[in-house]
Amino acid sequence: MTASARTAVGVDVGGTNIRAARVGATGAMEDHLIEPVEAGREAFMAQLLRLVETVADDSTAGVGIGVPGRVDAANGVILSAGYLDIAGLDIPGRIRQRLVLEARVENDATMALIAEAHARPEVAQGLILMVTVGTGIGGAILLDGAPWYGGGISGQFGHMVVAGDGPRCNCGRRGCIETFSSGTALGRLVAEAGLQEGLKTRDVFQRAKQGDKTASDVLINWAGPFRRALDSALAAFDPRLIVVGGGLGQEMVGALSEIDNEGSWFGCPVEAAKLGDKAGVIGAGLRCFARDER
Ligand SMILES: [Zn+2]
Repeated sequence: MTASARTAVGVDVGGTNIRAARVGATGAMEDHLIEPVEAGREAFMAQLLRLVETVADDSTAGVGIGVPGRVDAANGVILSAGYLDIAGLDIPGRIRQRLVLEARVENDATMALIAEAHARPEVAQGLILMVTVGTGIGGAILLDGAPWYGGGISGQFGHMVVAGDGPRCNCGRRGCIETFSSGTALGRLVAEAGLQEGLKTRDVFQRAKQGDKTASDVLINWAGPFRRALDSALAAFDPRLIVVGGGLGQEMVGALSEIDNEGSWFGCPVEAAKLGDKAGVIGAGLRCFARDER
């Protein structure tokens, strides 16, 4: 990256860590910093401003910030942010005031999807969905390279309903895939199956691979509702690609491969995210170069 090339600062706010880096239009990253996220609204804000100030240089043209939870991205308002107490903070306003840089806040899955799509130029046009599997299940929608927000918070794939009489979900409905196919749900399935408490996900996979029927049933019960939700989404939207990301994205794609995918009118590639935990920070920087909302 030459000194004259324009860059943006990407910031990825997670439940545990906050990352910041300078990102070029090619997706190349410089000065990548990672710190444990500070507790408390003002401590968090001070940390974010300090990281942006440290990473920004004369080439920096803007700042993108990905946060967990629901974001009214068109208006830059954080509606809720999981375990973090940052809802309602005017992050773009504070960055503008202190650093005279334009800033955009988005859901972290939107940022990760921008980076994953950038890494796959062959699907840059058209509709791409991302579903993230971690403690909960989230997602994002990109249409011709620009985020698609719907009425403001589209992409909440964790709340697609697959069983109307299923467990009650945080959102108020019953039987959302988050209650069946999240990391939290996998922990519950492991316990219910009588497998050793606290068994790591990779050990469940290992046992299933060695022919342990209990472990293999756990994975099928975990991934089955997820497959049904994806099937509904792809019949409805006909996307070019579905990227499965988040901390358990690779594992979910592995578990899906064990499920019979019977022939159907509908289909599209389902791939694991390939940028790992750097997707959020790269995408947050690239957001400043991306087209605006559809
Ligand atoms: Zn729900």
